[in-house]
Amino acid sequence: MRLPLHLATDQLKSQIHHRLRGRSRFPYVLMLEPLYTCHLACLGCSIERHTGKLKDRLPLEECLRAVDESGAPTVSICGGEPTIYPELVELLEGIIELRRHIYLCTNALLLDTKLFGKIAPHKRLTINVHLDGMRETHDYVCAREGVFDKAVEMIREAKRLGYHVTTNTTVFKETDIEEIEELSFYVPGNIAKRENPSSGSYALSYKASIPKIRRAFEKIAEKNKYDLETDRGAFGTSYRFKKDRYRITVTVSKSFEPKGATLMIFAFKSSF
Ligand code: SF4
Repeated sequence: MRLPLHLATDQLKSQIHHRLRGRSRFPYVLMLEPLYTCHLACLGCSIERHTGKLKDRLPLEECLRAVDESGAPTVSICGGEPTIYPELVELLEGIIELRRHIYLCTNALLLDTKLFGKIAPHKRLTINVHLDGMRETHDYVCAREGVFDKAVEMIREAKRLGYHVTTNTTVFKETDIEEIEELSFYVPGNIAKRENPSSGSYALSYKASIPKIRRAFEKIAEKNKYDLETDRGAFGTSYRFKKDRYRITVTVSKSFEPKGATLMIFAFKSSF
C-alpha cells in the first residue's frame, strides 16, 4: 500500500465527489507556503524561498481560507521553514479541524521547541523531514555542519512521541545513486524500525529525467538481485523492490518543476 488507509480513503472520496459532478480536473494536494523565511540556506533551494522577511508571511486566516477553498484532501506545508511560522500550531489545528491531511515539510531543527508538546500526534498530521543524503552530503547541501545529526535525533524523538514521520530527499544530477540506496535503507533500518516501523515512509524528489530515475533503480535491483515489479498507475509508475525484510515502493511521477520529476518511496508496516 502506497498511502496510509485513512489518507487513501479520503483521496478516493474526494475523487468520487468530483467525478460525480462531472469534473475531470480537481486538486489532490494544496502546496501551502505561508512564509519564505528560513534559518538555513540550502544549495538546492531558490534564494527567494529562504530570504523573505517573517513580517511578510501569509496571515493565518488567509492560509485557512485557501485550504478550505481548494477542497484538496491533503495540504503540504512548506515555505520557507514552516516551524518558524509563529501561528504554526493554530494553522495545524485549523487544517485538522477542516478534516484535511497535512504533510509538514521541515528541516526538523526546531521540532523540539516549536512542535513537540504544543500539538499532539494526530493521524492527519505527518512530519516530513528533509534528508538530502547521508551525513556528509546532507550537511554539505544544507551548508551547515550538524544538520543531519539533529534531523535524525528529531526523527527519533518524533517517532518516540508517536508522530507519523516521513523523509523527503532531493537527489541532484551529481548525486551518487548508491548513497541514495544507502539512505533508503538507513532510514527504516536505523531510525524508523527501532521505534515504530509502521510509521516509516520515504519520499524522494529527483531532479533528473524519469528515464534516468528508471535506469538508476533498475541498476540497483539488478546489482543486488532484488525482485523488481513495475506497476503503471494513475499517479505514475511504481517500482517495487525488496531487500531482506524491507519492501520499498518507488513511485515515479512528473512534478511541476520545469526540468524535474518527483519520485516517491513509501514503505509501511506490512512491508517489513
Ligand atoms: S531548509 Fe528548506 S526552506 Fe530552508 S533553505 Fe533548506 S530547502 Fe530552503
